Amino acid sequence: MKRLDAGLRGDGPVSLLQLKAELARRLLKPCRLCERRCKVDRLAGKTGYCGVDKPRISNRFVHMGEEPDLIPSYTIFFSGCTFECLFCQNWDISQRETGTTLQAGAVARDIDEHFGDVKNINWVGGEPTPNLPFILDVLTMAKEPTPQIWNSNMYMTEEAMALLHGVADVYLADFKWGPGDCSKKYSRIHNYWEIVTRNHVLANEHAEIVLRHLVMPGHVDCCSRPVLEWIAGNLDTSKVIVNVMDQYRPEYKAPGIPGIDQRISESEFFEAYKLARNLGLKVT
Ligand code: SF4
Repeated sequence: MKRLDAGLRGDGPVSLLQLKAELARRLLKPCRLCERRCKVDRLAGKTGYCGVDKPRISNRFVHMGEEPDLIPSYTIFFSGCTFECLFCQNWDISQRETGTTLQAGAVARDIDEHFGDVKNINWVGGEPTPNLPFILDVLTMAKEPTPQIWNSNMYMTEEAMALLHGVADVYLADFKWGPGDCSKKYSRIHNYWEIVTRNHVLANEHAEIVLRHLVMPGHVDCCSRPVLEWIAGNLDTSKVIVNVMDQYRPEYKAPGIPGIDQRISESEFFEAYKLARNLGLKVT
């Protein structure tokens, strides 16, 4: 895994990272960090769909449960999310404002203390996107060039993607819904396919991607197949690893909702996994 581009830190009075942090702050008024484009002034403390007023860290620890190449990973969990997945396994932090507000300098010192002991810093949630200005502030203050993972639903605006260019060394990116209306029904997102495919292409131009495809029950034909075929046909797959995931559990509001109220079958998982392999994808 490559390290955060040293050129971002610079020697001049204002580094590129500082400039990015300032531009990210300006995206808060009105907020256009994600494609909900809520039109609220978050600099004035207003909240949009994600409910994030200021960054709240609900947990941080050295994670050993991520993909083998990425661990140990110092993982920082923010509360709040730009989606509302009705089956969210982390709903207690994604759908509620919980956690501690910390100063950027304190988080910078914290991540520097883990330098050498972990392979990367892993920004996640909920969703990291509503906290992009804070994360860039932290990185302007961190002294050590630890690689950065953007662990996300990939619903950022193009403006936010531009700021992540050169900052995110690896996108650990979800891609679960196909082009139909499943994303709208089960994650409350209207233009999911259009936005996340655009962002996967942008990420693929500049960084490595570990794409997580969670196989959903009864969604192989409408979601797994188009997702995997799109990856094979549209990305430079030499820079992409696909994790076909079988751990779907009906949590949060999912019990009783047809279409998401059961675990996947073994045959559904193997169908998706085999398809990924047959398409020539690097599968973890
Ligand atoms: S980050 Fe939050 S407030 Fe900003 S546009 Fe997205 S959902 Fe709305």
